[in-house]
Amino acid sequence: MDTPSANSLASAAAAAEGSLSSVLSTENRDFLISPSGVKVFVKDMEDINTIGLYFGANWYSPCESFTPVLASVYHRLKSEGHKFEVVFVSSDEDQASFDRFRSGMPWPAIPFGDLRSKRSLTGRFQIEGIPSLVILGPDGGLVRSDGVELVYRHGWRAFPFTPGRIAELEAEEEAKHASQTLENLLLLGSDTGLIRARELQVPVSSIVGKTVGLYFSADGCPPCAKFTSRLISIYDSLRGKEEEFEIVFVSVDRDEAGYARCYAGMPWLALPYDGGFSKALSRYFDVQGIPALVIIGPDGKTVTREGRNLINLHLERAFPFTEDRVRLLGERMDEEAKGFPASFNHAGHRHALRLVTEGSGGGPYICCECEEQGLRWAYQCLGCGYEVHLKCVREVVVERDADAAAISSSCAIGSSIGV
Ligand SMILES: [Zn+2]
Ligand SMILES: [Zn+2]
Repeated sequence: MDTPSANSLASAAAAAEGSLSSVLSTENRDFLISPSGVKVFVKDMEDINTIGLYFGANWYSPCESFTPVLASVYHRLKSEGHKFEVVFVSSDEDQASFDRFRSGMPWPAIPFGDLRSKRSLTGRFQIEGIPSLVILGPDGGLVRSDGVELVYRHGWRAFPFTPGRIAELEAEEEAKHASQTLENLLLLGSDTGLIRARELQVPVSSIVGKTVGLYFSADGCPPCAKFTSRLISIYDSLRGKEEEFEIVFVSVDRDEAGYARCYAGMPWLALPYDGGFSKALSRYFDVQGIPALVIIGPDGKTVTREGRNLINLHLERAFPFTEDRVRLLGERMDEEAKGFPASFNHAGHRHALRLVTEGSGGGPYICCECEEQGLRWAYQCLGCGYEVHLKCVREVVVERDADAAAISSSCAIGSSIGV
């Protein structure tokens, strides 16, 4: 049954639908909280035409990393007079961690106590993880929900985040990649034209025409240290065979001391330390985690961004990383797999494993033995989700009084590949 009050509420809601205020305020609350703790009335934000709803938490390190990036985009857009605002929707667990938003965030927030608003916004925009940045247009309508990726990838230039703007940026990027040369890639960061070769400096021109691996890495990252030592042996072996191969370390270290520690263990070239430039290069190649190895061909064009996986799968045989080479190695893997039994009792797992490939239940996976990416062929325990490279299985050594239960298995399913 309709009552007058229900009717008027419904029509008020309908009127508010399609406006920014309907998103940012509720029946009981018509304000946000500024970083200095004062009320910011939603009605005073009418001239704003693009809003980023920032779902995050101050205690969570991926948010801690994203906040300063978003803040620099925010300051830039504000200083240019754009009618842009960010509103923080906190997932902090207590008032104290919420209050920390004031030290690092220049924008207003939904008050910490308004749990209903937070819940309804999270549901409305189907937020599944943080940090998340949802971009709303002048009518409060959804423009993009992948604001975090867009800000990381394009910085302030992503504004106003509309499909037209993003298409423009993507076309620009494509053109850049098409005209890419090793020199225009590496010289953007240095006006001297030099890169480091240990204590010396060499011109970038000295490595033009080689296959070059750009190695994104940092100090204090265990997967990087592990991959670096593998890469060193491959580098030495390829150079021993006089292959035209070079590696250039691109430091994503937080400071120059980290860079120095990290480079001290590497035998190849390095870009000078420049946090801004390595960030720009990471963005350009869409590097999502480290270690990462981007391969540039002798013509200066990108061959693959999957250098790390190819090295882990094929070691030095991956060289020169081209599509033809990868296809050949895949065929060789298929050939080799024929020599493996259909099931295997692997010492690292308590159930028998089944040989699988892409067509038979396999697919890209993380090897539970060496924790590196696998492709194509694997030994798999369907019940446990346990998968290993063919090269990583070890036969069960049957000892007297061996207790089957002692053969342990532990592998975090879905473990992540890096930072
Ligand atoms: Zn493995
Ligand atoms: Zn199992």
